[in-house]
Amino acid sequence: MKEILELIENNRSNFSELNLFRFLRNQSINPVKRLAFAPCISPFVMSFGDLNKYVLQQHPTSDKIQEIINQHTAEEHNHWNWFLEDIQALGYDFNINFNSTLKFLWSEETKSARWISYQLYRFIYDADSIQKLVVLEAMEATSSVFFSEISKVAEELYKTKSIKCRYFGEHHLKAEESHSAFMPETDDYINKIFIPQKRKEELATIVNQIFNLFSDLTESFFQYAIKYQDNSFPLNSYCSQSYDYEYIIIGAGPAGLQLGYFLENSNRDYTILESGDSPGTFFKDYPRHRKLISINKRNTGYSDPEINLRWDWNSLLTQDYSKNFTDYSKKYFPSADNLVEYFNDYAKEFSLNIKYGVTVEKISKNQGFVLLDSYGNTYSCKYLVIATGCPKLYIPEISGIELAEKYTDVSVNPEDFENQRVLIIGKGNSAFETADNLIDTAVTIHICSPSPVTMAWKTKYVGHLRAVNNNFLDTYQLKSQNAILDAEILGIRKNRNEYVVNVKYSHANGESEELVYDRIILCTGFRFDDSIFDVTCKPALTINNRYPAQTSEWESTNIQDLYFAGILMHMRDFKKKQSGFIHGFRYNIRTLHRIFEHKHHHAPLPSRKIPLSPQAITDFIIDRVNTSSSLWQQTDFMCDLITVSDDSQEVQYFDELTKDYIHEGYLGRHEHYYTVSLEFGQNVADITDPFAIDRVHKEDAFNSSQSEFIHPVIRRFHKNTLIAEHHVIEDLASEWKEDVHIQPLLKFMTEQLTHSQGIGAHLLEAGLLTSEQLEVALEDQERQATARLGEVIQKRGWVKERTIQFLLNQVNNTLVDHPALNACTQLGNNLVEAGLLTSAQVDEAIQEQKISNKRLGEILVNHGWVNSQTIEYMMKHLSKANATAQPEVAVMN
Ligand SMILES: Cc1cc2nc3c(=O)[nH]c(=O)nc-3n(C[C@H](O)[C@H](O)[C@H](O)COP(=O)(O)OP(=O)(O)OC[C@H]3O[C@@H](n4cnc5c(N)ncnc54)[C@H](O)[C@@H]3O)c2cc1C
Repeated sequence: MKEILELIENNRSNFSELNLFRFLRNQSINPVKRLAFAPCISPFVMSFGDLNKYVLQQHPTSDKIQEIINQHTAEEHNHWNWFLEDIQALGYDFNINFNSTLKFLWSEETKSARWISYQLYRFIYDADSIQKLVVLEAMEATSSVFFSEISKVAEELYKTKSIKCRYFGEHHLKAEESHSAFMPETDDYINKIFIPQKRKEELATIVNQIFNLFSDLTESFFQYAIKYQDNSFPLNSYCSQSYDYEYIIIGAGPAGLQLGYFLENSNRDYTILESGDSPGTFFKDYPRHRKLISINKRNTGYSDPEINLRWDWNSLLTQDYSKNFTDYSKKYFPSADNLVEYFNDYAKEFSLNIKYGVTVEKISKNQGFVLLDSYGNTYSCKYLVIATGCPKLYIPEISGIELAEKYTDVSVNPEDFENQRVLIIGKGNSAFETADNLIDTAVTIHICSPSPVTMAWKTKYVGHLRAVNNNFLDTYQLKSQNAILDAEILGIRKNRNEYVVNVKYSHANGESEELVYDRIILCTGFRFDDSIFDVTCKPALTINNRYPAQTSEWESTNIQDLYFAGILMHMRDFKKKQSGFIHGFRYNIRTLHRIFEHKHHHAPLPSRKIPLSPQAITDFIIDRVNTSSSLWQQTDFMCDLITVSDDSQEVQYFDELTKDYIHEGYLGRHEHYYTVSLEFGQNVADITDPFAIDRVHKEDAFNSSQSEFIHPVIRRFHKNTLIAEHHVIEDLASEWKEDVHIQPLLKFMTEQLTHSQGIGAHLLEAGLLTSEQLEVALEDQERQATARLGEVIQKRGWVKERTIQFLLNQVNNTLVDHPALNACTQLGNNLVEAGLLTSAQVDEAIQEQKISNKRLGEILVNHGWVNSQTIEYMMKHLSKANATAQPEVAVMN
């Protein structure tokens, strides 16, 4: 056996010069990088335990050599426990799913670590004890090289990074050195084992083969370490599943669920990725004191489910009103727990495709979007919708702000504030909700921010302070030791157990002072988190970086096909309308889905064809303003649209679009369209006392535009420019069903559609008035109330009375009454009749035309007597009127 052991020793010295060991000895490389191959050796480490426990051992035995083997392997078989510890210490204990782990362990990169185990089994299985011993001795020689080198790296790691390794460290090395097989008497016994020559040759071959196998193994470790020196587990290659969808929504809050519902119904290829284990994660924690500020009014006196949504602010939309939140709580201000339960049932009822427990950590964009989750799975999609809410608490830049506790995790147990002085920074609902909770126990509560508190009852914006949270106001105004400070906080510092806060008052001529508190709580609002986007698709931000900037289609202004839903939609009506709340954004999302269908799948926006009659249009409008919940919730933000085709033959009624989407897109290029909205008075937020407003008399329809409370507003536009406006007078019950509501609207529609198709529109089209002038004239008209638009324009001196009268006749289709004349003469006659030219000018132009052969209109424009738009207008209406009478004369010259 001595010769075999010498052969092993020779092989051993060559083995120690392999790449891996030179790499391990290279102290210029960070020890963490030198140990980067640790995950790759796992198949070998784990199966080595089995080899020792199940294959090398044999019981019972009377064979002395087998006894030595049994003893040795019993000491060796559970070293993998130390390996698991080291994997954790080195930061490779990733939270990855089981399939991914299996894939990695059976990957190409770990092939050598598996292959060697199979080969060792081949040498040992059914072998006699001598052969087993030789295999063991050869393996021990390689492992002594390995552990003596690697333990030095582990030592460096401990010294530089305080990372303690047992498997790779000295602990394992010592265990290897103190094996009983290496005791002198055992060693001596082994040396003296007689081996016949022929057998010696056989065993020498096995020794060489074993060294070759271990050489290949160490080379694979070395290659792996070089490849993954940055300590990055090869996540993308081994740990990932790939999924591909047309639409991905990130976040299964109310917004994700609402959009998921519509995508599911239109059979679109979509999924929702949600980091929580069920929907509505935000509402599991917030509001901290659990009372929602969204109302839940179950009894309304109406049976129409659409009307009832006006006072049910928590339900998500369904096509048949089949799943409503009102069945989940009887409280007017329900608990957030009920909402979470409702969301769960909603997701299940409509079988929404949601993947829970998936946290998207990175988003990039090439052709489409690629998302990476925390398990290394990738998801790709064409259209990406971000519905991740506003999860980041805003921390103002104030020196010492880190001394403050946060709304997100401060105690909600009032007893923790017994006899304490508390400062709350911020004046929103979360600040007042927090203060309200401490009224029973705190000594003093101050609520502070630079701007005064704004009441929702005044501004009609539900994000301003709601009455449900305003107990505190009483405790301030009635001198109960609490206060609301309008002040800038200049700095916070700690003085023993107290906090000293330096404030500068907003309304006290620059006065400042130091106030002392026991606790400070930050309630400064939440914002969008853009950290998951990489440079290829970072969306532009706006409103002090609080929201992603969006187009009128809720698409990112700089990243195509990236959309936003839910509270993030509030960017477009920030602190004005209700897009930051379920009862606002649920309608936005329905519209967003319609836009998707239109834009991505060529479906027309839903609309109804209605008869072209003032009565029919009035009836439609009256029906919608009395029933629609979207117009009610999204006042002056969402509106219905009525388009009249260019040939005045067709009228289309579109429900629920946003105003800017209409005016900015192709819909706003219509020459004749109306918007229908519900609105509060324009000045409602400026009224000093909202409980003492002078109201227009119920029957004073003439002054309906002075209505301050919610009421219908119908506006007529010509290509984006406002032409005329009508207000239906406000009503106590918000029911617009009486003559005083209907008749003035009918008159307005009649005027617009028949008698005077909007003098403003005609003047604009004829280039006789600018849109700025028209705007001023409409304001004048509103002030003068009785005046007609034509009169106002004429008084301003912009257009002659005669021209206005001429165009009004045109509106009534009486422009062309000389079909026998040729078009040229008619053009001249009409311009004279309109007071835009004299007969002399027309005669001169006609003479010139005979010589020059130019068109009459061209000659008139060249002289600067009329502009080309006026000529085009005249010709257009002339040829239209003559089209049926005498087509051949409707020639341009
Ligand atoms: C204190 C407080 C109280 C409020 N009370 C009300 C109220 O009573 N009524 C009301 O209508 N509104 C209320 N709001 C506004 C409220 O935040 C929104 O109405 C609602 O939460 C917005 O819904 P959302 O779906 O847009 O976002 P969220 O509800 O915030 O949902 C976002 C979802 O995205 C998931 N998510 C986030 N990041 C990732 C990621 N990287 N990967 C995977 N999933 C992710 C989250 O787990 C979460 O489930 C309140 C807000 C605050 C701050």
